[in-house]
Formats: sequence, C-alpha cells, structure tokens
Amino acid sequence: IFDEYYIKSLIRSVNDWPAPGVVFRDVTPIYQSPKAHRMVIDSLIQRYVDTEITHIAALDARGFLPGAVIAYALNKPLVLLRKQGKLPAETETETYDLEYGQATIEVQRGALDANDSVLLIDDLIATGGTLLAAATLIRRLGAHIYEAAAIIDLPDLGGSTKLQDANIPTFTLCAF
Ligand code: 5GP
Repeated sequence: IFDEYYIKSLIRSVNDWPAPGVVFRDVTPIYQSPKAHRMVIDSLIQRYVDTEITHIAALDARGFLPGAVIAYALNKPLVLLRKQGKLPAETETETYDLEYGQATIEVQRGALDANDSVLLIDDLIATGGTLLAAATLIRRLGAHIYEAAAIIDLPDLGGSTKLQDANIPTFTLCAF
C-alpha cells in the first residue's frame, strides 16, 4: 500500500539550492530507505503491469533509477533520454528553456518506432519542460506516449497541467 504521508515525510526540502530562491525537493532519502524505495517502485509497477506499454523511457539522471527497475520488473526495453553529448551514434535532439538558460536532451535514432507505446519516467515534474521535450523526442521517432510518470509533482509550477494540455497523461505519487 502506498503511503503518501510517509513518502513525503522522507523527501527533504533544501532552501536556496541550486540557486537562491529555489526550494529543491531531494529524493535521495527514498533510495536510502529500502522500505520507501520498494513502496515507490511497487506502486509504479502495479500501475503499469498488464498495460499496453511496450517501452520505458527514462530521463537523465534521476529518472534512470526508477526507470531501470521498472523496465526490469515489467520485462520491457529501456530507452535512455540523455543530456547532450552522452549518447554515441545518430541522435535526435531537443532544446528547451530552464528557469535560467537552456538544456538539451537526446535519444538515439531508431530506439523507438510507430508500433511503440512509451511510459516516460522522471523523478519530479516542475515546469514540465523536461518531460515535454522528452515527449517531443519520442513523438519525433513516431512512437505513442502512454503516460508520463514521476514521484513528485510541484503543481504550483504548472508542469503537469502543461503536459495534459499537450495530450500527455501524467501520473505522480505525491505533490508539494
Ligand atoms: P522541469 O523541467 O519540469 O521544470 O523540471 C524537472 C526536471 O528538473 C527533472 O528532471 C528533475 O530531476 C529536475 N528538478 C527540478 N527541480 C527539482 C527538485 O526540486 N527536485 C528534484 N529532485 N529534481 C528537480
């Protein structure tokens, strides 16, 4: 059983990191607690077992942790969406705006095609820019997005609403 209160109690809020005025929600205590880690992963597995998803696509770097474990548990292929310059061979690239500056993510060409239905995974939705760029890459490869999932939503920043508006269903386990 997922205990939202328990999971939220573990997430640490760090003021003024990585920049003044930002409250960073630190998920590392979840991974330091085998009970919490299992609770989070089991909830996601329960949600996506016996669905039409064909692939898991995980965001560099904190999305890799749940993404890899869920792909293993569901016996599905794992696609890595990486920061610029990390993936060898031909890639598709998408640049998006951050609070300060820009970021670029990439996926390998041929990693997905029109037969695929993809579960996108990251740790947290803030403005939604990262998952929206990820969705753009997935769609450019021709694949369908089944859902975008994260452990935490920050609804006041509008990201999950922005994703829904772009026809990307979202699922999060807790919100701050
Ligand atoms: P967005 O693109 O939705 O504005 O920001 C989400 C991305 O930035 C995710 O990849 C996430 O890892 C990272 N991120 C932004 N703010 C936080 C935060 O407060 N805590 C954590 N753990 N990650 C954050």
